[in-house]
Amino acid sequence: MSKVLIIGAGGVGRVTAVKCAQHPEVFSDIMLASRTVSKCDDIAADVKRKTGRDIRTAQVDAENVPQLVELIRSFGPELVIHVALPYQDLTIMDACLETGVHYLDTANYEPKEEAKFEYSWQWAYQDRFKEAGITAILGCGFDPGVTSIFTARAAKHHFDEIHYLDIVDCNGGDHGKAFATNFNPEINIREITQNGKYWENGEWVETKPFEFRKELNYPGIGSRSSYLLYHEELESLVKNFPTIKRARFWMTFGDEYLTHLRVIQNIGMASIEPVMYQGMEIVPLNFLKAVLPDPGSLGDNYSGETSIGCRIRGIKDGKEKTYYIWNNCSHQAAFDETGAQGVSYTTGVPAMTGAMMLLQGKWGGAGVFNVEEFNPDPFLDVLGKHGLEWHELTGVDLEL
Ligand code: NDP
Repeated sequence: MSKVLIIGAGGVGRVTAVKCAQHPEVFSDIMLASRTVSKCDDIAADVKRKTGRDIRTAQVDAENVPQLVELIRSFGPELVIHVALPYQDLTIMDACLETGVHYLDTANYEPKEEAKFEYSWQWAYQDRFKEAGITAILGCGFDPGVTSIFTARAAKHHFDEIHYLDIVDCNGGDHGKAFATNFNPEINIREITQNGKYWENGEWVETKPFEFRKELNYPGIGSRSSYLLYHEELESLVKNFPTIKRARFWMTFGDEYLTHLRVIQNIGMASIEPVMYQGMEIVPLNFLKAVLPDPGSLGDNYSGETSIGCRIRGIKDGKEKTYYIWNNCSHQAAFDETGAQGVSYTTGVPAMTGAMMLLQGKWGGAGVFNVEEFNPDPFLDVLGKHGLEWHELTGVDLEL
């Protein structure tokens, strides 16, 4: 029985709130806080309709440590689940340190002024979390998150050494819009327009955006063009599984999406450099976010499924082995249950499940941890029951 504070009232915050409310035996008291309290109130009303439970709401600026500390002290949670934006990771970690409360997030820190994401800033909190005797769980969404836990399962139960890891992320859904992103447009566009990179033989190999493409088959979806990107879990996975010789991340994009993205970039709308507009400084990408569809609104009539997993080659008992582990998630089923589409669902369900692991004492320890450092078994034992069934096959053609 524990109090939990969820910060961020977007699509992921909505799913996390609904899913926590479904488990009163673990999450006895829930508060949802965000920059715009009316969004928290809308979600709270929906949580009440869907689960019969009342949750509290509050306004907070998660970039303001004193405000966060005051809120945490007044509510007294055991854990803060941070599902606002990656810009707020460090301020929320600071507030957790000051109040002695555990921390969990789904995306690593990014400075606003530079489209760069890496774990160094959060790993630098290791000693302070250790000394405070509290836990920080980093990257507990789907990717990072479940893909990292899938890799930990492969290492624990299927391989003596993992050599080649390919994380494959397909959105086979159709939301009927000409162009929309499935999570925060600013974060998403910053992520996919920067140079890619992958790990090979002990070093990072840099690529141009969308330089490498492969046609891959996804279960229940079929063949989709998949492009090599850099994704943050690669950094912690090659550190935590040092036998990995090559680690790559692939994501599907349709031609229509890429054409829109090219135009957006060519006309300067993906830029994060401020420009003057009618006497005001604006950031083109922030402005673009304001006119694009809200990812949280994409759920209605969103058909199709996501399929995300890990394709792994390595050695077991002296022999080469291949292994594929994945989840498919239906956008419509996610929307019917939580009011949010599949990409928010596949992030919010693991965030709730990771929080449950911590509060039940199945994961823990003092310090800063990436999720693959914990025992994958108790998490994967319940993930299907929580709405994300997973499947695994050995001896398959990995296509990679
Ligand atoms: P949204 O943009 O829909 O929601 C973000 C929420 O954070 C909004 O409610 C926003 O408030 C709030 N917020 C922003 N700034 C502040 C602030 N300073 N103080 C308080 N609240 C603030 O994003 P999503 O729900 O789509 O994504 C949430 C997180 O999940 C992101 O960090 C994203 O990177 C991560 N993610 C992780 C994935 C994974 O698999 N690991 C996959 C998808 C997303 P307001 O409403 O006022 O704008």
